[in-house]
Amino acid sequence: MAPFVIAVDLGGTNLRCALVNEAGDIVHRQTEATAPGQGRDALVRRLAEGILAMAHGAGLAADQIAAVGLGIPGLVELEEGRVVKAPNIPSLDGFRLGPALSSLLPWPVVLDNDANLFAWGEAYRGAGQGEPNLLGITLGTGVGGGLVLDSKLWHGSRGTAAEIGHLTIDPEGERCNCGNTGCLETLASATWTVKWLLARLQAGDPSSLAPLWQQAPQEITARHIYQAAVAGDALAQQALARVGRALGIAIANVVHLLGIPTVILGGNFAKAWEQFIPALEAELSRRLTFFPRSSLRLRQAILGDNAGLVGAARLAREFSRGPGIC
Ligand SMILES: [Zn+2]
Repeated sequence: MAPFVIAVDLGGTNLRCALVNEAGDIVHRQTEATAPGQGRDALVRRLAEGILAMAHGAGLAADQIAAVGLGIPGLVELEEGRVVKAPNIPSLDGFRLGPALSSLLPWPVVLDNDANLFAWGEAYRGAGQGEPNLLGITLGTGVGGGLVLDSKLWHGSRGTAAEIGHLTIDPEGERCNCGNTGCLETLASATWTVKWLLARLQAGDPSSLAPLWQQAPQEITARHIYQAAVAGDALAQQALARVGRALGIAIANVVHLLGIPTVILGGNFAKAWEQFIPALEAELSRRLTFFPRSSLRLRQAILGDNAGLVGAARLAREFSRGPGIC
């Protein structure tokens, strides 16, 4: 068995590659800009060049690498290696990226959704290590989900499972990018939280963020909201309590359906944890009627940016061992 795999996390902004050994340790990693605007062929070439440069830089021969695992910010059809839809990299929509990339490399390439690989990575080496059943949630510009059931990633029909960001939380809510209304993503993502806060400022609600809003509203980010909340700003605290409330409703629904005992929250926006967790806990207490709250482990992710890479490496390793395992 070749001792290494290459893991790739293709984001809308950054392209991260890592060389991972048999024990699952990242031994080398590099990050560059994705530049999705340059078109599909240029992106595939960049991916191939980055992967080859990583192997070459480590002085590895082709037979020392078993496979390449690639995380995609979108819906993936696993068997065909096809990107069904990637909102941040639309040039890949409908494209069979796996075979295209594999044709430029001496290794097989296996793709999966990035939130699935986040959950898979945290289940393998992170906050969910040793847990056979868990739900991973990524909070950032969107809300992603990955589901591990009986120690396997659960993909559902055509890779569509675990799209927790599109569970309906408020039937009368805002229209989500997916076309539905009141999705979790419209209530708990960084993007929509900023949008909500801007609307409240526009309506005249008092906040320490009002001066910045008057000067340069486009500069207000989720980080500003978090910092203002920590400093005691009531509107910013309300914005993050709203996030916690929506997450609590969604998690209670998933736990009632699957009886899943572990939920791991990661992604940049999850760093606001202590600001949204009280409202989340309050919702769980209110809504978890069959599953004892004391049996539900709610944890922060611990692998940071590496979770998706660790998951992609695990996927590549399993893929290289033969079909039907992952
Ligand atoms: Zn949606």
